[in-house]
Amino acid sequence: MKCDKCDREFSPATTWQRFCSSKCRDAWNNREKLRRQIEAAEERRAERLNGHDGSKEKIDLVTLGLASKPEPIKRRRFVA
Ligand SMILES: [Zn+2]
Repeated sequence: MKCDKCDREFSPATTWQRFCSSKCRDAWNNREKLRRQIEAAEERRAERLNGHDGSKEKIDLVTLGLASKPEPIKRRRFVA
C-alpha cells in the first residue's frame, strides 16, 4: 500500500490507513484544510464578481418580511 502523502510503500496496520505515518497524515490534513479555505475564499470572490454578494440575503429578508406581515383585515364597523 502506498502512502497518500509521500507515495512510500508501507504496511497499513488498519485497512483504512492511507498514510505511512502520523506526520504524513497531519501534513495531508493540513493541506486539505488549506485547500478548502482557499476554495471557500474563491467561491466568495466569484460570487462578489457575479454581483450576487449579499443580494440573495436581501431578497430573502424582503420575502420573509412580506411573508410575516399579517394580511390586513378590513372589518366593517357597525356604528350605531
Ligand atoms: Zn508518507
